[in-house]
Amino acid sequence: MLEDDTDCRYCGEAKAVILCLGCGIPLCNFCVSLEDYGFGCDGGKVVAFCPDCFVDPDVNTVLEFE
Ligand SMILES: [Zn+2]
Ligand SMILES: [Zn+2]
Repeated sequence: MLEDDTDCRYCGEAKAVILCLGCGIPLCNFCVSLEDYGFGCDGGKVVAFCPDCFVDPDVNTVLEFE
């Protein structure tokens, strides 16, 4: 888990709550983009991306299916 005093690496103004799955930077609740990977019958898996990785098809592979 993240340490309590880690600031969001994207906006630098709020506390980070999760790491981007693509580039690994800490993100706060306001900057994180959650993607739902609904493969198989496992009920899917929610992953977190920063805004940059979220729109990058090389990182966010969900976009390729559209
Ligand atoms: Zn932020
Ligand atoms: Zn990222």
